[in-house]
Amino acid sequence: MTEKLACKAIIFDFDGTLADSMPFLESIGVQVMMKYYGVSKDDAAIRYKSTTGLPYEHQIKLNFPDHSQNDEAIEEFERMKIERIYDQELSSGAENMLSELRSIGFSMFVSSSTFEPTITEYCRRAGLLDFFVEILGYRPGFEKGAHHFKHVEKEHHLSLDDVIFVGDSIKDYERALGYCRFVALEGMFKELDFRQAGHNGHVIQSLSEMTSIVELL
Ligand SMILES: [Mg+2]
Repeated sequence: MTEKLACKAIIFDFDGTLADSMPFLESIGVQVMMKYYGVSKDDAAIRYKSTTGLPYEHQIKLNFPDHSQNDEAIEEFERMKIERIYDQELSSGAENMLSELRSIGFSMFVSSSTFEPTITEYCRRAGLLDFFVEILGYRPGFEKGAHHFKHVEKEHHLSLDDVIFVGDSIKDYERALGYCRFVALEGMFKELDFRQAGHNGHVIQSLSEMTSIVELL
């Protein structure tokens, strides 16, 4: 694809997009499924991957509906996550990209299924806080996707026609549908996975490609 995406604002997913946290999150996510539900590692990995991009709470409830161990499993995952999430590196090129996009004049946001205080603290430690107009994280009833996008539209007076969402999961692509244009970042999912899901827009292999595919409206 060579056509540039004209926009005013760019919303970034967090895990696997700005932060290189997916190998860690997948490993604890799979570990918790194996421990609480007695599934094999391969089965847990498939269950994790097919629901990745959603809050872990939803990943568990979709995979193991009404299971009595759910609350405990979700709590254990969140406990393990908070212990090591701040040790996860930024994705390659993230800081440069944010700096370049800001200098061009884009408004930037984060929309994630991770809790907002966790992302804010991660960004504070990484020196990234100033890049974002607002960081939107998960709380029940306020999720990455429609809720966050409508919030950006309403509170920051942006038309979603002028907004791009960048994410690394199939769920991210699905959640952008009907709201804003989507740029897929390869990582856990490859270009073929996004194409098979129906995405016909940009797929990038590295965040450093962002500056060459967007232009300020
Ligand atoms: Mg992600």
